[in-house]
Amino acid sequence: MTTQPTPSADNSAQPPTLSEENLLPCPFCGKQPISEFNSVGVPGMEDCGYWGIDCTCGMAQVHADDEEFAIAKWNNRASAEIAARLQWRPISEAPKDGTLILLRVQSDRENWTPLEDAMEHTTIGSNSRDLNDIDEWTFAGWCWSHDHYTEGYGTPVMWMPLPTAPEMKGGQGA
Ligand SMILES: [Zn+2]
Ligand SMILES: [Zn+2]
Repeated sequence: MTTQPTPSADNSAQPPTLSEENLLPCPFCGKQPISEFNSVGVPGMEDCGYWGIDCTCGMAQVHADDEEFAIAKWNNRASAEIAARLQWRPISEAPKDGTLILLRVQSDRENWTPLEDAMEHTTIGSNSRDLNDIDEWTFAGWCWSHDHYTEGYGTPVMWMPLPTAPEMKGGQGA
């Protein structure tokens, strides 16, 4: 179960933090990161330390002298990472472990099943070569004769990761 940030932190040794709602979600997993003061523990200098913003996934963290700067640093980095995710990349760099991804596909004129009536279009699909040794893209297409989803045909030329899934709230069987 994931731990949700509680409005009243019970660790009164820590100075109050600026709202964690000011933070962009983690660019790697989509969760809300944790902002906290890390004291260096020098006697008589309890306020000596640094602000750390971390995600529990372990993929992203920033440190800074004060929280405002840490937040600015985190948000800068997160928005750059999120922007980097939203770039089309060459199909040669696509994962082939069965991960569902966005694909730009050049349609096949013989088997005309693009989701949009265009030679090149966007769809979702995967390649499971790492799992079954079959290096083949399978993706969603549209049957224009009967108006239903079907297997897509064509040549994937670019890919992009899907957006991260929303974090599951509550976790108490709502
Ligand atoms: Zn994360
Ligand atoms: Zn059909």
